[in-house]
Amino acid sequence: MHKKNLDWSALSFSYKPCDYSYVSNYKDGAWDEGCLTTQHSLTISECAGIFHYCQEVFEGLKAYSTKDGRVVCFRPDQNAQRMSDSAKRLCMPSFPQERFVAAVEEVVRANAAWIPPFGSGATLYIRPFMIATGDVIGVKPADEYQFRILVTPVGPYYQGGVKPVRVRVPKYDRAAPHGTGNIKAGLNYAMSMYPSVEAHSLGFADNMYLDPQTHTFVEESGGANFLFVDAQGHLIVPQSATDSILPSITRRSLVDVAEKLLNITVEERPVRFDEVHNFVECGMCGTAAVISPVGEVQNGEETIVFGAGMKEVGPVMKLLRKTLTDIQSSEREDTFGWVHEITLEV
Ligand SMILES: *Cc1c(COP(=O)(O)O)cnc(C)c1O
Repeated sequence: MHKKNLDWSALSFSYKPCDYSYVSNYKDGAWDEGCLTTQHSLTISECAGIFHYCQEVFEGLKAYSTKDGRVVCFRPDQNAQRMSDSAKRLCMPSFPQERFVAAVEEVVRANAAWIPPFGSGATLYIRPFMIATGDVIGVKPADEYQFRILVTPVGPYYQGGVKPVRVRVPKYDRAAPHGTGNIKAGLNYAMSMYPSVEAHSLGFADNMYLDPQTHTFVEESGGANFLFVDAQGHLIVPQSATDSILPSITRRSLVDVAEKLLNITVEERPVRFDEVHNFVECGMCGTAAVISPVGEVQNGEETIVFGAGMKEVGPVMKLLRKTLTDIQSSEREDTFGWVHEITLEV
């Protein structure tokens, strides 16, 4: 099979249409059988629910090549489950979970020429999403939907090695208490655009949002969960009393890696911001970067520095990141059954 002639390691995180997308439509209470398409634009009614009341949910995962020449992705069943949970919260139909995984496999296989080679650091980013396509003018759930998967090759998250970043505590909230912060919906990103642009313009990589009810507890950043390490070497994982943290698959995997492979004690609990200065390491986790180490957090006049600050990544974050990325790339045995092979011939 011929790979596309791309400079794989020079790719950025941007959209480049590939040969195929996957599409399935929901109408009269049922999903059609779905198919691959070479159409990368949609024509839908100006009155579609997506445009007016924002019924949209999405997922993000990646396919990549392993050293021994296989193509794999990571825990796609978890993306399927979460998308189904997200859809329910917005009164959208679930896309059946087995079909979700099969569709991911089908669209990756069809775009095999776009899967970056092992060693390039690049991956094929997979973006499943669902939108309301049926007309609505009065406020109610639409009765027609489209599920789609686009794929696009993206470069390594860190071009020149992993480096600590700076974050700040914003005066904004990302999500409402018991709102939609725990689902993966575009509307949460619309909310966080302004604080994110403001943070960037002030020299911060991201925001550290506090709980929207009391502004006392650490929640998450715009698109990643926080992790901390305390002075005893325990991994401290913030929980939300108001269900406003997105359940990151990377975070849940890192918790298992810490407890079951590395013998690190894990505390999953609400974390007060006023204890953060006691911690020695901080990181943000998500599919894209696995872990982005955080060197400093700024809250008004106060600057909290973790360990070696902006100079070096802390040892626990480094070890966690390496262990999980080694499992993902099959350089370490996957005792959890997380790595999902996609056979290219069927
Ligand atoms: C997608 C996302 C994450 C990270 O989740 P992963 O499953 O680890 O990629 C964290 N926070 C938010 C708000 C997200 O949308």
